[in-house]
Amino acid sequence: MLTRREFIGRTSSCAAHIGLMAAASPALIRRGWLAQERFPVAASAPWGRLVRVADGVWALVSDPLQDRTTLCNGGIIAGRSGVAVIESFSTVRGAEWMMEQALDLTGRFPTHVILSHYHSDHTAGLAGSAAGGGPVVLTTEQTRDLIRERIDGVPAQVLDDAVVLVGRRPTELELGDRSVILVPRRGHTESDLSIEVPDASVMFCGDLVWNGMFPNYVDATPSRLSREVRVMRLLGTTTYVPGHGPLADVAAVDRYIGLLDSVEAAARAALERGMSADEAGAEYSLPTGLEGWTLFSPNYFSRAIGAWMTELQA
Ligand SMILES: [Zn+2]
Repeated sequence: MLTRREFIGRTSSCAAHIGLMAAASPALIRRGWLAQERFPVAASAPWGRLVRVADGVWALVSDPLQDRTTLCNGGIIAGRSGVAVIESFSTVRGAEWMMEQALDLTGRFPTHVILSHYHSDHTAGLAGSAAGGGPVVLTTEQTRDLIRERIDGVPAQVLDDAVVLVGRRPTELELGDRSVILVPRRGHTESDLSIEVPDASVMFCGDLVWNGMFPNYVDATPSRLSREVRVMRLLGTTTYVPGHGPLADVAAVDRYIGLLDSVEAAARAALERGMSADEAGAEYSLPTGLEGWTLFSPNYFSRAIGAWMTELQA
């Protein structure tokens, strides 16, 4: 029997029921992902590939269909005076591995760890990121509080020592010869952060953007999510690093926006026809061109449509 805390910890993952839907053809899906890869591979492990997306910027594309050590995507940003690692991943081992890669690639130990939101697949490994008390952990106040409340295994001291970003203003993190902009956003959860490297035209999107995998609406405010993603798209960034799935360009983000819109349309139709979210989810099919997308759990369609129905009825 699970305690309440364990239960919440498990369901706070974007990827709690991973593999159910993917079990059909994970190899095929993975081959599709790898084929989309357009950047040199800097490191490879059973749980993902670290690719160099720009000078001093690497993205980890996790391979959750094979191994859950890291589970979410993340990254490394290096400047002359500092190195930032994005996300703390699902396990301590995954977080430690990423810190080791940062050290290998840049020749220095990371100075900062940045968390995009509180979900356990992005934060449960925090003890591994903060080992040795080295890097400064950067998070919003809400994200820090939600980790403290809901995520097991994160040392209280790490959260006490975290540096909390101020209000809803973007924060500039100076890494010497380059700036990283941390932008508070909302939609996937009440407090999301995008991590942007303007000089390299790279954006780490957290779970506001998914690619090749249907998004989890467990904590979403659907209209905000749709608006926020459109704002991110308008920036015309060259490389969007999604929270899950292969790297995205503007065209991929457009396809994702089309997906979000199709979920909204399904919810509106369900309300008109007096259907339940479960019924609408059973009937829902992915938009043309996205049939190869996978799901962490078969209930993601009804969850997404249900989130929209709740908002539209409010
Ligand atoms: Zn998430």
